[in-house]
Amino acid sequence: MKSNKKMLVLPGDGIGPEVMVQVRRVIDWFDRRRAVKFDIQEGLVGGASYDKYGSPLTDNTLADAMAADAVLFGAVGGPQYDTLPFDKRPEKAILGLRKELGLFANLRPALVFDALVDASSLKPDIVRGLDILILRELTGGIYFGEPRGIEKLPDGQRRGVNTQVYTTHEIQRIARVGFDLAKKRKNKVCSVEKANVMESGQLWREEVTAVHKAEYPKVELSHMYADNCAMQLVRNPKQFDVIVTDNLFGDILSDCAAMLTGSLGMLPSASLGAVDKQGRQHALYEPIHGSAPDIVGKNMANPIAQLLSFAMLLRYSFDLEDDAKLIESSVEKVLAGGMRTADIMQPGAARVSTVVMGDAILRELDKQAA
Ligand code: NAD
Repeated sequence: MKSNKKMLVLPGDGIGPEVMVQVRRVIDWFDRRRAVKFDIQEGLVGGASYDKYGSPLTDNTLADAMAADAVLFGAVGGPQYDTLPFDKRPEKAILGLRKELGLFANLRPALVFDALVDASSLKPDIVRGLDILILRELTGGIYFGEPRGIEKLPDGQRRGVNTQVYTTHEIQRIARVGFDLAKKRKNKVCSVEKANVMESGQLWREEVTAVHKAEYPKVELSHMYADNCAMQLVRNPKQFDVIVTDNLFGDILSDCAAMLTGSLGMLPSASLGAVDKQGRQHALYEPIHGSAPDIVGKNMANPIAQLLSFAMLLRYSFDLEDDAKLIESSVEKVLAGGMRTADIMQPGAARVSTVVMGDAILRELDKQAA
């Protein structure tokens, strides 16, 4: 079956372009070797776009993203842009894309490859075989709620205000994404909030429970307070399958879960929008790391997070589970063979560059597909 899905590739800044080159090699491999074809367009974003057009996200790039079936994003930012006004900063491009594409669901898998079990700061037994998914609501909650601001009080003090706010619609739609994801995994959802002290958390729990009862009774649902969840994540993370939570708690818990795996250079993410009446869904895939200015241009960056982001794109946007698995198992084999980029280096392993890691994964893809 031929597929000509439209993909917009935005490498961005710093190590973004370096790791994306390795992913483009894998995409070419898929074009040659598998029944998958992509229409690929590449554009500038972040600092690279600012340098050329004076804006981190141009209208044209945004229009291309809206027209694409999926966006594969690298990383943006760098010290040379740190003094720009906020609306010109590279990071503004991510916020703009999230907002305009309506990307309300952020998926952050935390998966521990056997070969990297010692990279975690937790004991091997706790993380071996770990495969959990944190689903974070991305466009609501306290980061966007009104009123917000810093005000001056009559007595001369200042007061900072942010507002945690969620509507039933926002809670229900993220809950549905969570239940749908769980159905393709181990069929378990843990919904996380602070219903004990926050009304928004109480509403969250009630709405998730109602969606579960009406639409997903066969999925196992549990509820947990966010503070307990943070503790359980480091005590016994394998008890979870899908964790669904709000923007603020998701921000914190997903970073905590990420570190169970030991390296930023290994971690992909996906951000999904609503499915429209034509069945189309905006989606953006990116590694969780930034532009890593300290190692840029040194051929040292680990390309695996970017490549696993592409695997997520195949799985969630193009429904190509076998192809996603092919990439993941190739990465696993290469790591098991002892190759490591500097960030995941271990005693006795072979330290390799970005390009050599790309070569090794391509060789493994050849082997697995033979
Ligand atoms: P960072 O993720 O860029 O780097 C943190 C550390 O991890 C660095 O030591 C870096 O060398 C290392 N690292 C990151 N990715 C790696 C990889 N693939 N392989 C090997 N090592 C890797 O975070 P930072 O230093 O806080 O931020 C640098 C810049 O990136 C800033 O301008 C920041 O705003 C931006 N940033 C962008 C995004 C994004 O584009 N989504 C995310 C986070 C930070």
